[in-house]
Amino acid sequence: MSEKTCNTCSTDSCSAKAQRPDEKLGDFLEQQALQKRLCQITHKILVLSGKGGVGKSTVAANLAISLALAGKKVGLLDVDIHGPSIPKLLNLENRRLEVRDEIIMPIELSENLKTMSIGFVLQGKDDAVIWRGPMKMGVIKQFLKDVEWGELDYLIIDLPPGTGDEPLSVCQLIQDADGAIVVTTPQELSLADVRKSINFCRTLKLPVLGVVENMSGFVCPKCGTMTDIFKSGGGETMAREQGVPFLGRIPIDPQIVEACDSGQPYVYHYARTDTAKAFERVIRPILEMHKATQPSENITQKEEKSIEEPKNLTQKEEKSLIIAIPIAEGKLAMHFGHCQEFALIEVDTEKKEILSKKSVPAPAHQPGLLPPWLAKQGANLIIAGGMGSRAQNLFADQKIEVLVGAPAETPENIVKAYLDGVLESGENICDH
Ligand code: ADP
Repeated sequence: MSEKTCNTCSTDSCSAKAQRPDEKLGDFLEQQALQKRLCQITHKILVLSGKGGVGKSTVAANLAISLALAGKKVGLLDVDIHGPSIPKLLNLENRRLEVRDEIIMPIELSENLKTMSIGFVLQGKDDAVIWRGPMKMGVIKQFLKDVEWGELDYLIIDLPPGTGDEPLSVCQLIQDADGAIVVTTPQELSLADVRKSINFCRTLKLPVLGVVENMSGFVCPKCGTMTDIFKSGGGETMAREQGVPFLGRIPIDPQIVEACDSGQPYVYHYARTDTAKAFERVIRPILEMHKATQPSENITQKEEKSIEEPKNLTQKEEKSLIIAIPIAEGKLAMHFGHCQEFALIEVDTEKKEILSKKSVPAPAHQPGLLPPWLAKQGANLIIAGGMGSRAQNLFADQKIEVLVGAPAETPENIVKAYLDGVLESGENICDH
């Protein structure tokens, strides 16, 4: 094969096929290398916002994780050159870039989720700010070309905010993107920006897959009452006016901030919450998109099911659940690692009733022992007073969800409050 041909696919219009008369050979070869890399990815979805701070990266990360939880092979790429927040969101700040034979290897977060951030190639935090435009573009282009994703169902790309040169260049580089998801908050100021984002997509002939209204209302963690702090619903009205799909609302959730600050992916750790369900709703049309591209005989029953009900990491079965609560002196033990026993309470979440309960003595304190031990006991949810983020990650690896901030109450009262949706969740009082 000569360097000027590409046999990866049969699309004649692909820019990797033939050098344009006005194109330099170096530029063409670079474009070809980029297209070959992206060719192995079925769907490329850009996540945009009219301005920073509306939760674009949070939405991008949680969408990627929700798709991975629904069984898809997913990559999450952060090219937000001015504020790459994915390393922080996923607790990867100390990870080093792994380069093999000039190829950047993405970080594998789980069997079907990989990620890479331009933050890893920036030397100092503020480097990008002082770069001139062409330098930034060179870095973004090289970065897109050099990351080896392998085959993916979806690549979710977290773009720089706004409608300036940087998001424009990325959109132009990823020529066959499926489209963009635009993230907004409900305030009018943010909605005005998002209209610009929609026009930006239209100018680029980039389909708008839909609008997500983030920070839409606040659900009180104590009483469950919903307050529309920023007057929710504006995103939906605006989407209707603009004739683009509305994908859903994500409420303001203090646990998102907490998860974000401690580098724990939200939907992974809080798979049962209404907010996680909101993310599941948002990904439904995106999963449908994948279904539409698959030959019908390849869509197995299992896959059909995952489209209707994105799999929760922690749910063995929707209705029945075993809750583990660390106990000291008959009540929830605030010091998780040194409790005397665990109450294991099986519940029916639909009927909201306790099916069985037993106490088992806690095993001798030994680092790393509790996660596999509790998994063996069949636990799929732990309700605790506090727990460090490292321990929570170990439980997540065992597919056990953790709720922190519960009060020192009897296990029965805690479980009852949990089933009734009124469990108080205070601060995570033990963060080590
Ligand atoms: P952007 O990428 O648009 O700049 P980020 O995703 O970095 O925004 O989010 C900005 C801040 O807002 C972060 O601290 C994040 O934790 C918080 N945040 C985002 N979405 C929510 C939400 N639904 N509820 C609570 N906090 C949120």
